[in-house]
Amino acid sequence: METKFLPESATRLSQAPVDYELCLSLDWLCKLRWIAGAGVIVATWLARLALGLNLAVVPLTLIGAGILGYNVLFTRWLNHLTCGLSGANIHARTQSRAQIAADWVAITLLIHYSGGIESPAILYFFFHIILATILLSGREAYLFAGLAIALMAGLAELEYSGWIPHVPIEGLLSTRLYDQPLYVSSTLFFFASAVIGSVYLATRTTSHLRKREDEIIALSQDLQRAYNRLYTLYASAQAVNSTLELQEVLDRLTHSTAEVMGVKACTIRLLEADGQSLCLASTYGLRDAYFQKGCLLVDQNPLVREVLAGKVVAVDDIATDTRLQYPVEALAEGIHAMLTAPLIGHSGPLGIIRVYCDKPQCFSEDDKAYLATVANHGSIAIENALAYAALQNLDEAKRKFILTVTHELRSPVGVVRSLLRTLTGGYAGALTKVQADMLNRALRRTDFLQTLIDDLLDLAAGKAGLRMDEPPQPVDLVPIVAQVVERHTIPADEKHITLTLETSSTPLMTMGVAGQFDRAFNNLVANAIKYTPEGGRVTVTLQAVEGQARLTVSDTGIGIPEEVQAHLFEEFYRAPNAKAQVKEGTGLGLVITKDILTRYGCMIRLKSAVGKGTTFTVTCPLT
Ligand code: ATP
Ligand code: MG
Repeated sequence: METKFLPESATRLSQAPVDYELCLSLDWLCKLRWIAGAGVIVATWLARLALGLNLAVVPLTLIGAGILGYNVLFTRWLNHLTCGLSGANIHARTQSRAQIAADWVAITLLIHYSGGIESPAILYFFFHIILATILLSGREAYLFAGLAIALMAGLAELEYSGWIPHVPIEGLLSTRLYDQPLYVSSTLFFFASAVIGSVYLATRTTSHLRKREDEIIALSQDLQRAYNRLYTLYASAQAVNSTLELQEVLDRLTHSTAEVMGVKACTIRLLEADGQSLCLASTYGLRDAYFQKGCLLVDQNPLVREVLAGKVVAVDDIATDTRLQYPVEALAEGIHAMLTAPLIGHSGPLGIIRVYCDKPQCFSEDDKAYLATVANHGSIAIENALAYAALQNLDEAKRKFILTVTHELRSPVGVVRSLLRTLTGGYAGALTKVQADMLNRALRRTDFLQTLIDDLLDLAAGKAGLRMDEPPQPVDLVPIVAQVVERHTIPADEKHITLTLETSSTPLMTMGVAGQFDRAFNNLVANAIKYTPEGGRVTVTLQAVEGQARLTVSDTGIGIPEEVQAHLFEEFYRAPNAKAQVKEGTGLGLVITKDILTRYGCMIRLKSAVGKGTTFTVTCPLT
């Protein structure tokens, strides 16, 4: 997880690649020094043997050997340094100073034994001047340049005054120059000005490059930080949107926001129905005691009013800010700064999300933008969860309403039916043909009403978890299906529909309740007859297939359009072609059928083509 106080760490980290580069340069310098040391020895002996120059062979060879010797030490030292990208390496800086100082001394000795102020080796200083400006800071480069000038001037002075002997290269110069003040001083002047000029030019270039390098490092860190935040925002959005339970949405939001922003705590307060109090809905990282203070009151809290108006508001130092309702409690909890963003839904403010920091001045513009984004996507998730909760409540209310109303309707309808039966049966006296006809129509209507009430009651009770089921027991489906078909022979005859049954000759046992299976199969056969025009066919089969009992109810009826087949098992749904041809129907029969069948481990499928017919297939496990 990202750290909160990035500015310091960013500066610290920006040094790391520079130190890493320094280590690489030192390694490269050590490798070059092997060539330099060997070069001094080889050049000395070549000049002596091939050119016949009379050199101080022994001291120069010793200087070459000395360079190789101390290079062994530097190489070992360097191997012990950990030159990773992970932090500043103070030892690398110390070693770079030591290496340059050692080389300075070696070059001075080399110059001394190759003619002092007359030596062409004087130019070797410039390699190191450039190296020093690359490896060290500008100030140190000037210091080392001063040291080079001092070494050269000291050497020239000591030789000039005779404190140390002058060691000329015999045969190189025909005249002595080291004892000529004008030559010495002018050479020193040009040497010094060239050294200072080189350092100036080189440091200007390197400082410019270093600045750019720092900028690039800072930029890449910003990018990394932005990437981390985007990634965590995406992850938290996923977590928040993966549930519709309001409390879970809020808790995930506070948790992930606090973690991503690296802050002490995060809370969400939701606006109460009165629109005046913001009460705590979720908290992460704060003690319960802190919330004893209660809800925030909008009219007493100017800061909250500002936030609810749509602004992201930072309190950089709670000790000095006057806009808070409970500053003392906040300080006691160790909170020194707060950042608050509004949660705004489609219909207005929902509440606020607030992050807490244990230091003053701890939120940047980036943090503000980030919290605003979290608040935006959080608002959508909260609104969805609220809508879901409202829908659930509505659904529940609807079911309770259906349950109560149908329950209240059931007994009067039952009484009306039995009275009508008494009348149509002639038990209350003879009826005229017209009276009998009217009463029979009334009876059919109340029968339908009774079925509707039963369906609704069953459905509402089932979904509301109020149904008292009989325990399942082994039942034979063969007689149940036979009974259902038998029940429909008269209605089928009335419509001149050929109703046939092909059933297994052996029992087909499954676990369930006979009355419930009867009800489910009855709905399927009733539908088949209802939605098959006169002269059609309805075929019912019941067989054992692949270890299961398989019931099919096929008809040559109106069929079901393919595009609506997915809706058939939804409450109150009726296909448009069914509605157009058969007025009576609630659209509850199939829902109840499926509910019963799935309760006993059965499955229901359908195959249908408009104008050709429909087949419902039910499969139940055999015991
Ligand atoms: P009820 O609740 O009184 O049974 P219903 O028959 O309309 O009313 P369901 O039994 O749930 O309701 O059937 C839902 C819809 O499925 C029907 O309205 C009809 O559109 C379609 N349907 C069901 N069975 C058939 C069938 N055999 N042939 C054609 N359409 C059918
Ligand atoms: Mg039906």
